[in-house]
This record gives sequence, structure tokens and C-alpha cells, in this order.
Amino acid sequence: MRWRRCGALGNVKGICLPDTAQGKRAAEALHDAALLKCTRCARLASFLAQVRKDHPEYHARPVLPFGVAAPKLLIVGLAPGMHGANRTGRPFTGDYAGVLLYKTLYKHGLANQPEGAEPGDGLKLKHCRITNAVKCLPPENKPLPDEVKRCNGYLQAEILALPRTITLLALGLVSHQAILRALGLKVSAWPFKHGARHALPGRQMLFDSYHCSRYNTSTKRLTPEMFDDVVGAISSHIR
Ligand code: SF4
Repeated sequence: MRWRRCGALGNVKGICLPDTAQGKRAAEALHDAALLKCTRCARLASFLAQVRKDHPEYHARPVLPFGVAAPKLLIVGLAPGMHGANRTGRPFTGDYAGVLLYKTLYKHGLANQPEGAEPGDGLKLKHCRITNAVKCLPPENKPLPDEVKRCNGYLQAEILALPRTITLLALGLVSHQAILRALGLKVSAWPFKHGARHALPGRQMLFDSYHCSRYNTSTKRLTPEMFDDVVGAISSHIR
């Protein structure tokens, strides 16, 4: 198996990644297996154990990324929602945030259908993949700073396995900072701003949007039109 050094990827040093399709699949399988078993955040692991008792039918484990194997766009949300990804095991599936996200992705040719309410619904993404900065459900949708940092290694592995020219969409401040940290960049040097695009030194392009949560849309912090503008700009950028 051939390997390439990640010294060429932004400022992140000392990590090697496989450089063949077979190697990438093997690395991804290892990554997914480790992620599904991860209990490094004691608070989150114990919360998930309680959720599994209360809702035995729920996934209630770390949630794996969803989408195409070789994306041009990686969308990074915050964390699984209790009755959405935490229930179904697929990011942004089964709650309001997913309704707006998938409808907007479909409008811009980034999904094959406008809805993604349940796994097995036939939803297929085009050119993109969706993941979260924190892979486990946090109480009240609020991960602690040390949990975001602890989970950052998984996000880093996901991003570094993609081409250097990958386009990234951060849904909210926490995801924006998690992406920068994963790339070894100084968080204060690249402030979060809805609608901003940042050409990063490793050649990635980072777009920012407020998170498409029910709270943000019901308070009109993020309107469907504002979200549509961001996803439309990304769609033009990656074509
Ligand atoms: S949040 Fe991330 S690091 Fe923490 S237990 Fe879940 S998968 Fe592991």
C-alpha cells in the first residue's frame, strides 16, 4: 500500500494517509469501526447509555458520516440531535434541521430528492458528504469545549482523507472552529461570519452558514433564503 504524508496538507504534520483507493477504503473502515465504539467522552457515553435504556429502538451511538465516497463538498454540522441523527443513525435525518438542509441540497443538485426523513428512504447525495464536529449526542445539544476537542481527531482524519482542494461548509461557529483546528490553523485568524468564504492556506475553501436548526430558523437568524444563498454559492463554486 502506498502512503502519502500529510505535511503537504495545510499545517498538519506527522500523519500519514493511504494513497490508493483500496487503502483509503481500508482506512475509512478502520476509522468507522473505531468511531462506532468510541466512549472517550465519559459524559456523552453515559448520556447515550441512558438514552439507549429510555429508547431501545434508537441508534444512540456515535453517528458516521453520510454521502459520496469522493465528495467535492464536506458539510460539517454540530452534533446529532436527540430525535434526528441520534435516533436514525444518519446525519440530519429525522429532525427539522434535515428538512431544510436536504430540501436546499436538492434544489441545487446536491441530492437526488428533497426529503431525508429515514434511512432507507432512497436519499442519495451528489458531490457531497455530511458529518458532524461532535459525533455523539450531547445533552441539550450543547457539547462541552473539551468534547469538541476530543472528537476533533475523527474530523481531522475525515478531512485529511479528502483532496486538498475540498470545499467545506461549516454550519455554525463550533463547526467552523472545529474545521480550522482539524486543519491545524489558528482559530482566531479566520473569524466565523454567516455567508463568508475563506480561502485557506492548504487550498481548501471554507464557507460559513448559521446552523439550519429549528431554533435559528424560528428566530429568523437564518431564513431559508439566507441558507439558499450559501448553498447556491457553494454549488456554483464546486461545478
Ligand atoms: S464525541 Fe467523539 S470523542 Fe467523544 S465519545 Fe463521541 S465519538 Fe468519541
